[in-house]
Parts: sequence; structure tokens; C-alpha cells
Amino acid sequence: MPDAPRHRNFINGEYVDARSSRVFENRNPADANDLIGVFADSAEEDARAAVDAAASAYKTWRLVPAPQRGEILYRLGEILRDRKEEYSRAMTREMGKVLKETRGDVQEAIDMAFLMGGEGRRLHGQTTHSELPDKFAMSVRSPIGICAFITPWNFPMAIPAWKTTAALVCGNTVVLKPATDTPLSSLHFAEALRDAGLPKGVFNVVTGSGSRVGMPLLRDPRVKVVSFTGSTSVGRTINEACAPDFKHVHLEMGGKNPIIVMDDANLELAVDGAIWGAFGTSGQRCTASSRLLVHRNVLARFTEMLAERARALRVGNGLDESIEMGPSINQSQMETVLEYIEIGKAEGAKLVAGGSRLTSPAHANGWFVEPTVFVAERTHRVATEEIFGPVTAIVPIGSLQEAIEVANESPYGLSSAIFTQDVNKAFVAMRDLEAGIFYVNLPTIGAETHLPFGGCKQTGNGHREAGLAALDVFSEWKSVYVDYSGKIQKAQIDVPAGASPSA
Ligand code: NAP
Ligand code: MG
Repeated sequence: MPDAPRHRNFINGEYVDARSSRVFENRNPADANDLIGVFADSAEEDARAAVDAAASAYKTWRLVPAPQRGEILYRLGEILRDRKEEYSRAMTREMGKVLKETRGDVQEAIDMAFLMGGEGRRLHGQTTHSELPDKFAMSVRSPIGICAFITPWNFPMAIPAWKTTAALVCGNTVVLKPATDTPLSSLHFAEALRDAGLPKGVFNVVTGSGSRVGMPLLRDPRVKVVSFTGSTSVGRTINEACAPDFKHVHLEMGGKNPIIVMDDANLELAVDGAIWGAFGTSGQRCTASSRLLVHRNVLARFTEMLAERARALRVGNGLDESIEMGPSINQSQMETVLEYIEIGKAEGAKLVAGGSRLTSPAHANGWFVEPTVFVAERTHRVATEEIFGPVTAIVPIGSLQEAIEVANESPYGLSSAIFTQDVNKAFVAMRDLEAGIFYVNLPTIGAETHLPFGGCKQTGNGHREAGLAALDVFSEWKSVYVDYSGKIQKAQIDVPAGASPSA
């Protein structure tokens, strides 16, 4: 591979090979002949070197005033804005989603940089009154220490940015292990942080496999916070690995997100939403609209309209601006998708659009599957399991109550949506759907960075990414009492005379 660009780990502000000198290849999922580069195939010793750097940088970074930390994030936002087109194109080539979407991915990183940059001048604590005289009470956010991030490939800059910007403004230092399929986008993010003036060692990237470098990284006893986004099965393994040391663990995992379509819905709008929600990012979003719970009164029309739109989607290399849907991320993910399509057929779900791999000369070197629509029963595997591909299942329902029941049967609870013109139905769904995110007259995708993002049940473990809620993952509350009475006043005991009815 003499011509392949060689990319290195980013440790302590320097670009370094894996100690072993081992590398792995990264190829374009739209064209397997397109080699993007070779990357450091890191192992435990590389993770340790990155944690060494993060540990040493933490000693000074935690003492940098938060407004100054925020200013670096502000510059990060400006640099990403200047390089948006360059990084978006590289991301489409690296992971296949269409340019419009990779521009959105980089934009999300920009939005997070400005949001958390602003937090530098807030990071509010709570100041309140003591129950005793001549005593002061407040609580402040303290940094926690070294954070390890394990991230997926579907939002290769946005997800690292959600975690990193919040962690840094709080005064922590970071080691990121990005997905094997998208190391370049993470290294671009690191480059922008470096150019924004972030001190050496505050942010580090080690590339390589989850088991060989990810697991040793998060097991390092110096790592205090582990934030993971990915599948529920890997999330469970990580949670178990971190339990003995009581590390703070933040998990964002899978979804099987329903759109409810009521019989009073604007059907054009609902179909538009379902197409975007189900086939955006080729269905490879944790929030993908992979279940469409459609009222029987509009089932036939909705199904026909959706199938027609799905068949008309232009699928191909996302670098071509006219393309609407890209490939699956890799061969094995494509095979999983094709397997699920066979499972759907075998279970008796009715295939109404797509169902095959695309094999024309323009598609032959990539991992392309047709946008696929089933009409299924609520128990079918295509209607209950996360497929992570361009497959969605319409499930007929007879009432809002039934739709909510079907929606809540899922072990996941990430995103949810309803299309209806009836405000009463919208509010009942808002109250009763078990999910961290809810949309009215929009599909299940499209979160904005200044609101909390995350899910309940087997999607998450009670934390939220983005918004101000993210600050709780990356800071520890410290409650502070200052007594200026000159006495040892005992809380709950030395209540001032006259203050209590029994006194
Ligand atoms: P994944 O297989 O769980 O991988 C995610 C990350 O974990 C990758 O960096 C992976 O490294 C690493 N990893 C794998 N095995 C590991 C281990 N034993 N120890 C430590 N790290 C390990 O998920 P994916 O296939 O990349 O992403 C798809 C999944 O992510 C879906 O389930 C989707 O719903 C979920 N997701 C959730 C959200 C959310 O916010 N809720 C957002 C996006 C995606 P390698 O790349 O080397 O395998
Ligand atoms: Mg790739």
C-alpha cells in the first residue's frame, strides 16, 4: 500500500504510529476500490500512552478558568465552519451518507462547540440559603478527570463533538476511540481542536478495534468517566467492565423508533416524514423511523404512497449531489440487512418495496441495498428488532391506544413521533410514549443540540447527551458550606430560637 495516506494516533498533541506499527485500512463503502488511507491499529500500550497524556494535561486544564476553556471551543466552532465542506466531503467518502447529511453532521459539531463555548461563562451552580445564621451555602460543578469515549461510525464527528465539548468546558481531559469504520472524521475533529489552541494532551485519539484498544482504554484505572454510543450489546459489556471500579458510565444505545400515523394526519406530510426518517443515513441512525404504526383507515393509501416514494429514491455515491441515499457502512452490515429482509419474508411480512441488493455497474463495488418497506405484524422481527439499514416496517393499528401499546412493547425507548391534526391525541402520545424524544408532525430524527438527547429503557442508562443535561455527565456536584458565625453550628440541631414552632 505504498500510495495510501498514513494516518496516526493523536496523543499529547503529536501524531504517532501505534507502538506495534500495525495499521488497518479504511475504504469507501460506496466503492470498495477507493482506499481512504491506513490508520494506526492501536493496542493497550497506545491506550496507556494516551491516558498518560490526558492525566498529565488534567493537572493544568482543570485550573484553566472555564470562560477561557469556552473560548477555545468557540474557536473550534469557527474552524469547523471554515472547513465544513472539506470535512463533509471526506466524511461522505469515509462512511457513505450523502453530502447534505455529512454537512449536517459537521454542523452539529459546530453547534455543540458554540453551545458549550457559551457554557464557559455560565456553568451555573446553585446558590441558596443556609438554615443557620451567619452561614453561606452553594454548590459548584467540579471536573471529574479523564474521560474515555467510544463512538460509532454513523455520526462520526457529531457524536465525538457532543461528548468532547461538554467534557472539555467542564475541565476534564479526553481520550477518544472512534469506530474502526470512521477514524478519519475523528482525526479531523482533533486537528480542528489542535488548531483552536487546545493545550497538548487535553484531547487525544487512539484508533483501532473496540476489543483491542477500546476495552483496555476504559479499563485503565485512571479513567473516571466512560461515555459510549453504540449497540446495546456492546453497551452492556462496557457497563459490566466498568462496574467493579464504580466508573461513571454514560450509555447511548439502540432504538426501534415508531412513527404513529393517525387517520386524521396530513398523509403527504406523514409520507414525507417517513421517507426521511426511515431512509436518511440509509436507516443507519439510532433514531431511524424503523416502525410505522399506521391507522387501518389510511393504511392502503399510506402504504401505496410510501412504497412509490421509496422505489423512486436515488441510491448511490453520496458525493453526487443528486443522490438521496448512500450505502450500508460495510459488507457485514449489508449482509445483516439482507438477512433481515429474508427473515421478514419468511415470517410472512409483506414486502411492498425494495428487498434486494443493488448490482448495476454504478453500485457493484459498494454495499447498496434498495429502500425496503414491509407491512408486518407487531410481533415480526422486522417490526421489533433494530436492523440499522434501509428497512422499515408498517404495522397496522386501530386506535391511538393500540399504537401506544405497540410502541411501548419495544425494549428500546429512544425516539418517537406522531402525525395527527388533533392536538389532544398529540398530547396523549407525548405523555404516554416511553421515549426520550418525541416529535409531532415530524419523523423520529432531527434532534437539535441545545436539547437533551438520549433514551430510556434499553437505549440508555438515565443520562443525556447534548443540551445542558450533558454537563451532569461530565461534572461532579460539590456542595460548599461556609460558616462565618465563629461557632460550630450543627445542622438540623442548632435551629435558631423562634425558628421552630416547638421552640
Ligand atoms: P457498536 O458495534 O456497538 O460499536 C460502537 C463502538 O464500540 C465502536 O467504536 C466499536 O469499535 C466499539 N466496540 C465494539 N466492541 C467493543 C468492546 N468489546 N469493547 C469496547 N468497545 C467496543 O455499534 P455500531 O455498529 O458502530 O453502531 C450502531 C449502533 O449504535 C446501533 O445500535 C445504534 O442504535 C447505536 N447508536 C446509538 C446512538 C444513540 O445516541 N443512542 C447514536 C448512534 C448509534 P469498532 O468500530 O472497532 O468495532
Ligand atoms: Mg470506511
